[in-house]
Amino acid sequence: MPNNIPLKNIIRKGDDNGDGWVIQLETDKGRAVYGIAVAQSSSGRTGPTWSYVFENDGFTVVDLGTPGSFDNFVDGYSQLPLNLNEIQRVIFTHGHSDHDGTAHEFSSLYKAEIWAHKTYSSLKKYKIWEIQDRESSVLQKELMRISSILISDSDKFSRWNQYSDYYANKGKTSVSKDLSNQEIFKDLQIIETPGHSPDQIVLLLDNFMFTGDHILPEITPHPTSNTIIQKKISNSLPCFLKDTSPWFGLGTYLNSLSTTMKLGNKYSILPAHRLHNKGEFNWIDQSRGLEIISHHEKRLNRIIHRLNSNSDSLEDLTRGIFEKSKLLGANIFAAMSEIVAHLEFLEECNDIKVSNSGKINVTGNGINYIKKLEQLRSV
Ligand SMILES: [Zn+2]
Ligand SMILES: [Zn+2]
Repeated sequence: MPNNIPLKNIIRKGDDNGDGWVIQLETDKGRAVYGIAVAQSSSGRTGPTWSYVFENDGFTVVDLGTPGSFDNFVDGYSQLPLNLNEIQRVIFTHGHSDHDGTAHEFSSLYKAEIWAHKTYSSLKKYKIWEIQDRESSVLQKELMRISSILISDSDKFSRWNQYSDYYANKGKTSVSKDLSNQEIFKDLQIIETPGHSPDQIVLLLDNFMFTGDHILPEITPHPTSNTIIQKKISNSLPCFLKDTSPWFGLGTYLNSLSTTMKLGNKYSILPAHRLHNKGEFNWIDQSRGLEIISHHEKRLNRIIHRLNSNSDSLEDLTRGIFEKSKLLGANIFAAMSEIVAHLEFLEECNDIKVSNSGKINVTGNGINYIKKLEQLRSV
């Protein structure tokens, strides 16, 4: 819990799960920041998406909400002492549908510019799972091989299909500014924090840190796995995306957590989810970053432990580590890809070796990752 709770005023009370709250916050410089909990169109695990708005060279909005939630967005903003026409820009913390899912509706009604990290506009027209070169590593090949056996075509189809309209609209979204690391706009600073997604950024304003899904209370953000993009698409991408290793993977995510922790402990974190849940606010600071690193350390410990005691395949490990309820239908893909992200990190630390047939073995003592995490934690 941070020393200073940034809450100044509750403008509208919402539900126990966080839906519908509208609050006024205040930075250490006395600047008003409003938080609007935009309920998702269907109830999801993460709860509402928190959109924020403040004045910095005109009104700046951080994130919009999930597809189908535009009415909730407008309704929440109607409680504020500002008009949606006055918004100068919308900045996306990253390009996941629960953040930029109503960009199309917003842009068709309002003139505000859209800003996002530079990888956003380069990748926005692609479904990342379709452009990934799955032949690029044994683990990625295994992930596809096992899921094609375990996940029915109808499950796969409904999952992918659900996003078709979203991607069609997203491809057409016009981005006015491609953001880079450390850029400053008056009092607002951009920090690249890739890992949860390639385009994840956090925004610093006075003593506030808007983290999107980089750091969340209650939830451990999902890390991406390493993503090599198919050659034919990679060729048309800008230079900074030719090598995708700085943008994807658990190692990248953990590095980004280390980066945000090194900014010092003066920040109040304003996350995109779970700022309010179960009838209470969750006020957090950077120490939450340490908890997230510890979560991943525990998972890495369990993986090494299982590998040392006879588990040696991706499917085995996934079934051993996740509860059965998390492995139903197409969910097993998300669970396995999370295990792949951890195995890739262990590979990078030289703690495991994956044979061409997908058999995974611990090399040496399998403890290099512990040292690596120690380095990331030492701020
Ligand atoms: Zn996300
Ligand atoms: Zn999210």
